[in-house]
Amino acid sequence: MGNTRVFGQMSAEAIRNEAARLQALEELDLLDTPKDPGFDRIVRLIQEIFSVEIGIVSFIDAHRQWYKASAGMPVDEMPRQDTFCRYVLDSQNPLVVQDTLLDERFRAHPAVGNPPHVRFYAGFPLKTEDGHVVGTICAIDTRPGSFGKRDLRVLKELAGAVMDRVALAKLAATDGLTGLSTRRAFREEAHRLVEQALRHRHDVSCIMLDIDHFKSINDKHGHQVGDAVLKAVASLCKDQLRAGDLFGRLGGEEFAIILPHVGREDALVTAEKLRQILASTPIEYGAGSLAVTASFGVTATSIIAKDVDTLLAQADAAMYCAKETGRDRCEGWGRTKDAADSGARRRVLKSGRIIINERRSTIDCTIRALGADGANLAVSDTSLIPPRFVLSIEADGFETECRIVSQNRQALDVSFN
Ligand code: GH3
Ligand code: MG
Ligand code: MG
Repeated sequence: MGNTRVFGQMSAEAIRNEAARLQALEELDLLDTPKDPGFDRIVRLIQEIFSVEIGIVSFIDAHRQWYKASAGMPVDEMPRQDTFCRYVLDSQNPLVVQDTLLDERFRAHPAVGNPPHVRFYAGFPLKTEDGHVVGTICAIDTRPGSFGKRDLRVLKELAGAVMDRVALAKLAATDGLTGLSTRRAFREEAHRLVEQALRHRHDVSCIMLDIDHFKSINDKHGHQVGDAVLKAVASLCKDQLRAGDLFGRLGGEEFAIILPHVGREDALVTAEKLRQILASTPIEYGAGSLAVTASFGVTATSIIAKDVDTLLAQADAAMYCAKETGRDRCEGWGRTKDAADSGARRRVLKSGRIIINERRSTIDCTIRALGADGANLAVSDTSLIPPRFVLSIEADGFETECRIVSQNRQALDVSFN
């Protein structure tokens, strides 16, 4: 089982370094952001220059390698333990394996014996200016290859081009596909709106929405139709909002709205209006039309929610509840007992371990939001995790028993007992 492993073994220094590395990655705010044509071009260049089948630009959090761009790979991410790139991360140096079958470390690797049957691998670290390795750029092939000094220099330049683009992406305020605010721009503007509301003591609320079963739209009709759906959803919702509302695309098929001067109950009314519009408007694409729904989470500022990240975490938790209870629904934060239990949350990026099986095994996770009485965790596959477990955050010397409040395929909302 890929990312389940035996407990214990990281040194205190390694734990500190990993915490600093994750902090650097969090500052880039890149994980799970939408595809970007600039990075797509770089992975196609990898394929062409090195004549390989697979090119990847990836960022690596605590539990997974996430592909910002990939060519020739059918998946978007991989458990960190299962990757070749973790060797680049651990050593902070490039790695070239000309033939995996001739290399002790990789001969028995699952990706060698099974699809994609990796025979050749060349990976280069993506480093921040402070020297933290946040990801990798790599070339992979199913045939053995040779890779000389010149090739490595080319890969290094491409790694540089990726980090240049990362710096540029920071400046982009508009999402290329939908025309909405990027996640970064959204958080900045939302911060300003929330501060203003608190200062002048007026209401401000937050709606989060996530398209239901979007992956199956992509799978059934292709990525282009998926993109058309994203555009249509953005534009249908935008038409319903006021000029002063802030509307952003937070990730692939996940959007958020800040409504100044609107309290929680009225925001629920707006969310319900958006839900109905989406559910009742078939989305046209080249070959036909599609019925699309979304699930909504709603919250507003309160004594425990006085910043954007807490609002987003609460709206996210409420949206989880809407997903769990059938999708195509709106849920207000605090309306259910479980949600009310999860108090203020801070957005973080921390490395965690889910300890199960009477402490005999652990599953790596990334902690994305953390509060005094609960957390939001990302894992590669929630189906491996029992309803109760021990969560350890080694960098904080923290360990507690947890209960799952809600979950989807790759994320868990837990409350601490
Ligand atoms: P749920 O109802 O639980 O939200 O299920 P889901 O299938 O919508 O959610 P999941 O998170 O499993 O899948 C989201 C998919 O969105 C996976 C990813 O490949 C796809 N995606 C992310 N960004 C883009 C994009 O820019 N364009 C397209 N076409 N697909 C994207
Ligand atoms: Mg979805
Ligand atoms: Mg989603």
